[in-house]
Amino acid sequence: SFVPLSAAERADIRISFEFFPAKAEDMEAQLWASISDLVDWKPEFVSVTYGAGGSTKAPTLSTVRRLIDETPLKTAAHLTCVGATREEVHQVVDEFRAVGVNHFVALRGDPVQGVGAAYQPHPGGYANAAELAGALRGIADFEISVSAYPEKHPESRDVSADIDMLKRKVDNGAHRALTQFFFDNDVYERYLERVRAAGISVPVVPGIMPIQNLAQLKRFASACGSSVPSWLDERFAGTEDHPAERAKIATSIAAEQIADLCRRGVNEFHIYTMNRSQLTSAVLERLGLERAGRAADAGAAA
Ligand code: FAD
Repeated sequence: SFVPLSAAERADIRISFEFFPAKAEDMEAQLWASISDLVDWKPEFVSVTYGAGGSTKAPTLSTVRRLIDETPLKTAAHLTCVGATREEVHQVVDEFRAVGVNHFVALRGDPVQGVGAAYQPHPGGYANAAELAGALRGIADFEISVSAYPEKHPESRDVSADIDMLKRKVDNGAHRALTQFFFDNDVYERYLERVRAAGISVPVVPGIMPIQNLAQLKRFASACGSSVPSWLDERFAGTEDHPAERAKIATSIAAEQIADLCRRGVNEFHIYTMNRSQLTSAVLERLGLERAGRAADAGAAA
């Protein structure tokens, strides 16, 4: 159940938003409408994913460039090293730098053959995200975020192998980890305890996935190692033909998760927007956060 945040808790919350480059023109319009709606929440930064599904750097670069040129948002570019030589990675870094990027989310990426195939580093490339993070730090004083997996990465032997990798990434210069999405805050809390016990002190920011579509989420979750607990089915039961009701439930679930994490001492959240603003805004409203634009509008109207 949802216990409203105190004023002090609300004042302390820091958020960031993740977007992906739009693939088609109508999706492009949706992305930019979402960005202009979400800008008022004053995120610490926004990030744009890179290269999933075999795409190239171009869509990420153009999205990032427009964010930097046309909005006040601090923008991070995701970057993967899969399938690329070191020279190719460095060239991409130079291009991002030229448009003003100084924050990278450094990732390995999924096997070119698709999720589930054995990962083969490029013989002339970086083997994993730890090597990539180190290379980025060698190029410039970039801000660097990396991934973390509270339920372990599907390829990892166990959580402790995963935490070893996180440690290598942080030792190589990562400033923060952003987690894969999860729905069980106990799992995150236990993971965080182990991360801290391993001597990793950077923020491990929970990735929050507001549920736009439960069926789609389940397909996606199984590929990335996140579990979708059965209580989610129960919460959404009977809402198949009631989109407004589904949106309310999804809003409650994400707001409850964030509020509960706040009580456990977390104050930073990375929200997977799926390029849509409505649900994310509803969650932040439910939490009682203030939208800067709205406060200003209210002031102007008064
Ligand atoms: P790494 O951190 O390098 O490794 C992942 C895990 O694999 C490690 O934790 C480790 O346990 C295991 N592992 C790897 N190598 C070894 C080894 N040599 N020995 C033992 N264990 C090993 N994908 C995209 O394509 N584009 C994106 O923009 C993107 N953004 C993401 C953002 C976030 C916040 C997250 C959580 C994931 C994102 N991904 C993205 C997905 C990511 O690319 C995949 O999960 C990929 O399979 C792993 O990349 P990584 O950087 O997490 O890998």
